[in-house]
Formats: sequence, structure tokens, C-alpha cells
Amino acid sequence: MKKTTAVSTLKAGFENNFAALSNKFYEPSMPQAVHDPVLQKYNLKLGRELGFTFTEETPELADYLAGNLVFADSTPIAMAYAGHQFGSFVPQLGDGRAILLGEKITPDGKRLDVQLKGSGRTRFSRGGDGKSPLGPVIREYIVSEAMHALGVPTTRALAIVTTQEQILREDGIHPGGIMTRVASGFVRVGSFEYFAARGDDAAVRKLADYVIARHYPEIMEKKDRYRQFFSSVATRQARLVAKWMQLGFIHGVMNTDNTSISGETIDYGPCAFMDHYDPNMVFSSIDTMGRYRYANQGTVMKWNLHCLGICLHALLGKTDDEAAEVIDAALAAFEQEFLYARKVGMLKKIGIETPEDQDYSLLGELLALMENQKADFTLTFRYLADHTRQDSNMTPQFRKLFKAPDAVAAWLKTWQQRLATVNRPEIIQAEMNRVNPLFIPRNHRIHKAIEEAEARDDFSQVHLLAMLYENPFTEQPEFTDYAQAPASEERVTRTFCGT
Ligand code: AMP
Ligand code: MG
Repeated sequence: MKKTTAVSTLKAGFENNFAALSNKFYEPSMPQAVHDPVLQKYNLKLGRELGFTFTEETPELADYLAGNLVFADSTPIAMAYAGHQFGSFVPQLGDGRAILLGEKITPDGKRLDVQLKGSGRTRFSRGGDGKSPLGPVIREYIVSEAMHALGVPTTRALAIVTTQEQILREDGIHPGGIMTRVASGFVRVGSFEYFAARGDDAAVRKLADYVIARHYPEIMEKKDRYRQFFSSVATRQARLVAKWMQLGFIHGVMNTDNTSISGETIDYGPCAFMDHYDPNMVFSSIDTMGRYRYANQGTVMKWNLHCLGICLHALLGKTDDEAAEVIDAALAAFEQEFLYARKVGMLKKIGIETPEDQDYSLLGELLALMENQKADFTLTFRYLADHTRQDSNMTPQFRKLFKAPDAVAAWLKTWQQRLATVNRPEIIQAEMNRVNPLFIPRNHRIHKAIEEAEARDDFSQVHLLAMLYENPFTEQPEFTDYAQAPASEERVTRTFCGT
């Protein structure tokens, strides 16, 4: 028998501002009910921050998080958006497998979007089933929560529910999963492109006013608020992508529909952290040209922001020429900010807080050694911190990261001499350990956790990884294996988006 979604009498503190905008911005969409959902993972801490009083034991919680039950004060919708996918414009994308439940007002007065992902078809599903295999749900949960703990602006993960459904994808049949995720807001560059492509200037303005009020309230009353809005989005994105670079994170699908206006990392698909340092690293199985490779992420973000600028052009200048000048200037500022943030961030990784000109080539020399010798990105920086004293010898664990460690010894000496002019070795070491994580969500670990959950319904690795990555900068001696790079036979170099 087909199950139907029910509206509960319980109110959860939702408002529905976005749904109060004209209905051209979305389509009302009820989640599709599923049989016997099981709550596999609930982020109790985040739930509390949101102001939910549930615990894992709350009987109806799985039904709410599966979309079987909808809170009385939620107006579920699918948001409209377009987007450039791998450089080609698609005029209609939209939430094809996601449903916005509404905006949760938190106890401290924040407004956060709560969304179910994988809860069935919407008007924007096109040929898709609106569902998600469990694998991508687990990946997004683990990686987005790790990113948060690593200090990167990101959407958050509230829950994983499994369904009894079988999801058919190219590579076979998978158990179904539904993810509940939370964002400061789900408006994307692609949301603007949707209306700009339809020549609907009024909608572009209305959407801009909405996101300015919500994400950039400090510029709301400014006369040149649209210009400031554009450059503020650019600044946030510059800092965001610079952070990704410092952690070796590769988003994998930086399409304009996956680029958030609020400046958070969104839409974790075939994303991954690299193990050994390779600036051309690509994990995503669909990124055959390497458009979204590690070292190209700043350039791509600039391209995405250019797309946003074009949508806003009527708001940025009285004439096309004037708008073009504003866009060019903002993109030039983006590039400067990105390069600066990346430089400062990368230099912090080698213990240098106040950079001097020659420091960047010092960093470049280390990166070249790492690249040539396929050294692990995360551990090189982490273990480097054990060498801040001028008289320190190379530790065995650091030495092991390099194929020809003796070639690194000369670099170490120069670096130590530079540090000696800066601060006490133990202070620099502590500072470095605050920016260089020991635990990152390694691809082979996520892969294993997904395999066990899919094959045996065993979520113990999912729970363990989520717990470990809550404190990525802290040594956790009983889990040192989880900090290590994969052995060559364990390495996972391809990721899939699961759509
Ligand atoms: P993404 O993988 O998030 O970049 O998705 C790109 C577009 O495809 C968005 O419009 C999604 O809503 C849509 N999409 C992805 N997977 C599905 C699916 N299983 N069913 C329907 N729409 C989907
Ligand atoms: Mg997307």
C-alpha cells in the first residue's frame, strides 16, 4: 500500500519567508512518504542549536526526517534555479531531489534553512527519481560536519535516515537514504540565473533584496547596496575557496547552481580531500577535463561570480558599460582577495604569521618537494610542526612521508632559520597545530564506512568517523590509524555524485 505524507499538529518554530515571496521562485512540494524509515544518525548538538527538543529516542523523529510527517508550521517547497554545469547553461534545474521545509528560527534568533535531500520528485526533477542512494548521503554528512569542525563555512548535516527503497543507478542498486541538511540559506548563483535567463529583472531585484536582507543586512540601507552585495559575495567566496585550498579540499562540482550566495560550501557530491599533494588532482568521475581540479578552484569561482555579475548587471550600472566596469572591478578585487587569503593561509601552515616577500618562495619550494615526492598533504604540514627547533632532527614519521627525505633536509634548515627570527619554537608549533588538522575525512575511510552501511546496515564506522572529525586538530591516540594516508591498495581515487 502506498504511504501518504501527513501534516502533524506539532509546530517546530518554522517561518516560511522564502515561500512568502512570489510563487515564481518555487513550487510547493510535499515530500514523498516512505515505508519504515530508520533514523541512523542524528546530530543532537546541531539539533539543540536549532532549538529542537528531540533526541534519537523521540518516536516520530524518523518520520519527520523522512518526510512522512510535516510540521504544522512548515510550508514545503522546491526552489527554482538554473545553472552553468561544466560551463554550459541549463535554464531550468531547481530542487529536483530536495525539499525546503522552511526556516527554523533558532533560540539565539538565527534563521536557518532546513531541507530534506532525497525525499522524492518535485516539479524540477526532470528525468530523475528525486531520491538519493545512501552513499552520497553518508559522504555529505561526514564531510560537511568535518568541514564545520575544520572552521570552513558550510551547510550542516542534521540527520541520516535510511529507507527500505532500492535506488537504481548506473552502477547498480543501492539502499535509499534521506539527508536533512541545514544552511544559512539555499539561494545560489543559479537562482539568479534562472530569472535573468527569463528576462525577469523584477524577480532578480526581488531576490537580491531578499538575500541582502537575510545575509548582508549591514548593507541594506546603502545607496549602492547592489554593488556592495556583489562584492560582498565575491569576498566571502574568495575566503571560502582559499580555506578549501589550505585543507586540500576539492569540491568536485563547482557549477553555478552549487555556488551559494551566503558564502557557504554547498552541495557535497563527488567531493574529496586529497591524500598526496597534486595540484591537478581530480576525484569526480564526471570531471573528465579537470575543470574542477584542486588548483583551478579559484579561477572557476571567479568565472561563477562573473555569471552572477551578468545577472545583476541592470542593478550594477545605469548603462551596460558602467555595469561591466563594476563587474570587472569586483572580479579583480575577488582575485586579489583570493590570492591574499590563500597566501596568508598557506603561510600559517608553515608557522609564518607575518609574511615577508621571500616566504612565498619558501612555501613554493616545500610544495614542489611534496608534489615531486607525492607526500601526503595533511600530514606533511601536521608533522612539520615537530621541527620548529633549529636543533631538531627529522622525525621518523615525517621522514616516511617522502621518497627522498634527504632532499627535504636542506629545506628544513632554511625554514628553521626563518622561524628563529619569529617566535619561540614551542609557540610556533602550537600555532601550526591549530591550523593543520591531523584528521581529515579521508576518501578510503568514507568509502569503507559507506560500504559497511550499504552492505550490512552497519553504521559503526559512520558514527566513529563523525565523532573523530569533530576534533580534527586534537591528537586522539587510540585512533592514530585514522590519521594515516591509505596504503596503495586502499586508495580511492574516483568519486561519484550519485544522481
Ligand atoms: P547536483 O548534483 O546537486 O549538482 O544536481 C544538479 C541538478 O540535478 C539539480 O537540479 C538536482 O535537483 C537534479 N538532480 C540530481 N539528482 C536528482 C535525482 N535523483 N532526481 C531528480 N533530480 C535530481
Ligand atoms: Mg546541486
